Amino acid sequence: MEAPICNRCLASRVLCSSCSEKLRKGEISEIDIQVSREMFFLRKRIKDINHLKICKVLENKNSIVVLLGDGDLDKLTGKVLAVVRTLSRRLNKRVRLVENTSNVKKLVEEFISPVKLLGLTVKFLPNNQEVYKIIISKEDMNKLPIKKEEIENFLKKITKKEFHIEFY
Ligand SMILES: [Zn+2]
Repeated sequence: MEAPICNRCLASRVLCSSCSEKLRKGEISEIDIQVSREMFFLRKRIKDINHLKICKVLENKNSIVVLLGDGDLDKLTGKVLAVVRTLSRRLNKRVRLVENTSNVKKLVEEFISPVKLLGLTVKFLPNNQEVYKIIISKEDMNKLPIKKEEIENFLKKITKKEFHIEFY
């Protein structure tokens, strides 16, 4: 298992000087540490976690997103739900496991899954900022795994681009 903190810090309650420094500089956050340690503990029960890479953990008011390495969800075959449920219970928030990818469409699809993406368009503002419009069926409005605003916010944090979900 690879995580934002080193192996020694995964197993310990205190941070080594190198990981403390990363936290101080803002390269990692408390939620990175908390979730990484939970996953490290959980890997005793769910062995496939050993093969995962935790790239980053993001947090909003009601939900947490664990960004895993590209292709990592396949390594968790059949255990994704067990991991999500355990983490959600332990952290008291909705948890999503998402693969880190530079493919914006794939990232959006992972965030809204099981809801289907009807369309994704990009618009350039005069300042060259990219704004993505995510189109979803009106019928799926209440089926999103986490709140619309939180999805938009997570996507912005990951890609540094603007996202708007619209229902048709
Ligand atoms: Zn460390």
